[in-house]
Amino acid sequence: MQIFRCPACSSPVYFHNLACGCGQEVSFDPDAQTMVAGAPHCANRDEIACNWVAEQGGLCRSCAMTETVPDLRAEQNLPLWADSELAKRRMLAELARWGWFTPADPGARPVFRMLSEETLHGEADVIMGHANGIITINVTEASDAVLAHRQEQFDELYRTMLGHMRHEMAHFLFLRLAEDPAFLDDFRARFGDERADYTAALQQHYDAPKERGPEYITTYATAHPHEDWAETLAHLQHLVSMLDSGLASGLRLPDFPAEGYDAFLEADTEALITRAVHLSIAVNHVNRALDLPDLYPFVLTQPVREKMALAHRWLRRV
Ligand SMILES: [Zn+2]
Ligand SMILES: [Zn+2]
Ligand SMILES: [Zn+2]
Repeated sequence: MQIFRCPACSSPVYFHNLACGCGQEVSFDPDAQTMVAGAPHCANRDEIACNWVAEQGGLCRSCAMTETVPDLRAEQNLPLWADSELAKRRMLAELARWGWFTPADPGARPVFRMLSEETLHGEADVIMGHANGIITINVTEASDAVLAHRQEQFDELYRTMLGHMRHEMAHFLFLRLAEDPAFLDDFRARFGDERADYTAALQQHYDAPKERGPEYITTYATAHPHEDWAETLAHLQHLVSMLDSGLASGLRLPDFPAEGYDAFLEADTEALITRAVHLSIAVNHVNRALDLPDLYPFVLTQPVREKMALAHRWLRRV
């Protein structure tokens, strides 16, 4: 993520900020990718601290994609919804840098159902996932305590709300890309045939997960070609975002490009991955000084890099 500038005083302003330290109220314009002053605010600004500019209907582009919000009569749901929407905006703002869901992209947009396990009438089951353009997000996982428990339960240290957003959106992007038969040919040659029985494959995964060979980024990716795609694409976004944020912060390593470089314009996937890995090794060293876990503890094998290169090539095409 970039670091923005206050339109009034030019001080640094971060992606989630509603105002600069100088008092200037700011909103994020996803097309200009800047913080602006004086633009109409998203109608959800006061309720969930959405800092994007309003589009038609008074909501911003991100909030307009949300069809269902959690039961706000259960009072813990408001902050969980707000945190989940922030992760969603972060994911969407970065995809916009590749052109997705901008005015230049006439294609379909996803619909989000933001649900909580907590309702006024007690606990409800919420299964995260994507089906036919509808993305269901369990906002309960925006709670630090719940997330920590599930990271342990599922042995997924890297389980985060932003990770869920990137993963579920990847399923939607598959639908969009699959409108082009050339994509499906490319996809099947690398990820396998996604027409394989999904329900049976997932059941098999939960009964007895396959051994993760070098061609998969995570164990969950072994479950089905659709999940391999979603995991691979989510990790590609993690890497590009990590590099972009490092560069925006002024971090420099020997193989880093000169100032003004935009990681989202980079076409060379291998160069992106290599730089992101070098950055993660450097930050790991810093984290160890505080006894904190590694920033990005995944091994990027050659087959995984080739899958990422395929995903990257198609993602940049809108
Ligand atoms: Zn300012
Ligand atoms: Zn909004
Ligand atoms: Zn999935």
